[in-house]
Amino acid sequence: MQSVIVHYQEIALKGRNRPWFVERLVSNIRAVTADLGVVKVRALMGRIELQHVSNDDWPEVHNRLARLPGIANFSRAVRTRCDIDAIADTMLGELRDVQVESFRVTAKRADKRFPMTSPQIERELGGRIKSVRGWRVDLEHPELTVRVEILNDEAFCYLRKEPGAGGLPSGVSGRVACLMSGGIDSPVAAYRMIKRGCRVRLIHFHSYPILSHTSQDKVAELAELLTRRQLETRLYMVAFGDIQRKVVLTVPPPLRVVVYRRLMLRIAERIGRASGATALVTGEAVGQVASQTLDNMAVIDSVTSIPVLRPLVGMDKEEIVREARQLGTYEVSIVPDEDCCTLFTPKHPATRAKAYQVEAAEAGLGIDALVEEAATTAERRDLRFPAAVAPQEARSGTAG
Ligand code: ATP
Ligand code: MG
Repeated sequence: MQSVIVHYQEIALKGRNRPWFVERLVSNIRAVTADLGVVKVRALMGRIELQHVSNDDWPEVHNRLARLPGIANFSRAVRTRCDIDAIADTMLGELRDVQVESFRVTAKRADKRFPMTSPQIERELGGRIKSVRGWRVDLEHPELTVRVEILNDEAFCYLRKEPGAGGLPSGVSGRVACLMSGGIDSPVAAYRMIKRGCRVRLIHFHSYPILSHTSQDKVAELAELLTRRQLETRLYMVAFGDIQRKVVLTVPPPLRVVVYRRLMLRIAERIGRASGATALVTGEAVGQVASQTLDNMAVIDSVTSIPVLRPLVGMDKEEIVREARQLGTYEVSIVPDEDCCTLFTPKHPATRAKAYQVEAAEAGLGIDALVEEAATTAERRDLRFPAAVAPQEARSGTAG
């Protein structure tokens, strides 16, 4: 029978949390394949099996699993009986259309009650394949590795390992809220947190109708791409244009960027807390632009009482671009738009804003009311992947 075997690695190390992590990965795999023909997903002895994956569904199952955090690698596999003759027949069947010069067999026993050791299994199966196909055995540099995993009641044979995304299953590490600009950096920052098992809420500040809604369209598209990874995304669109107008009236130009950021963080904290987030996330990196200095970060962070995480803080722009390309967000991020922060932004922002100067500049703004108004009027959207599945179904097991 055609299955897919999923291996997790990092979660195997997580001690007492392990059953819960595996359960979450199983339910994420169920959710991500809910609209495909996969009949059953089950955890068994250190791996996860997707049963009855048809040849038609396999390419799409492959794409979706490759994006899902928490998977070390996965393989298209054939399930067979726990019996050396049955395993040999299955392998020879799988190799029917294969032609190579050299090969080896690699065996793993999850069930040590099997009467042969792994090296014995490898030698026995290798010998049989060699005599039928005439291929040379090469243990060091084989052209093909034929693999078998032996469990309690069944064995799995496969030829290829597909790399997974790594990381932890989405949903095991709590919730955070990421400030999403539509630029290159913030989607990468959000993904880094998704990969660490967080459910990432997205908060976008826009200046519509002063500017076009391009930035909102871009963020909606980026959110959709991220939802393929975390399966559920809550996105908030915050109207920021009027706030910026007020800032322009009272705050000296060099301090405006820092004041905008402080306002964004306050509003994000307010929205984030209400939706269960225990930290904020930004795409900032030290020194990337004039405003992203350690001094400014300190002044910006002091307005919140939850941690502000900056997963890209020590990265070069080139490294971030590379990750954005791999993630598939780059092409969306570079679509030209008018960022709300380029609006009313001075050419020379302060690189060492002082807290007392910023506080004095903010004094006339009526911060509390602005934050309250922006947070309560934010527009909320809930995205889900796969979108075609009824909400109840997709939500089961992946809630939160
Ligand atoms: P990005 O590529 O993420 O836009 P950037 O290098 O352009 O980053 P800035 O524009 O200075 O840097 O923004 C720094 C961070 O502030 C962003 O990574 C993002 O987390 C947050 N941010 C900036 N503008 C917005 C916005 N309009 N809405 C939400 N968050 C924003
Ligand atoms: Mg930006």
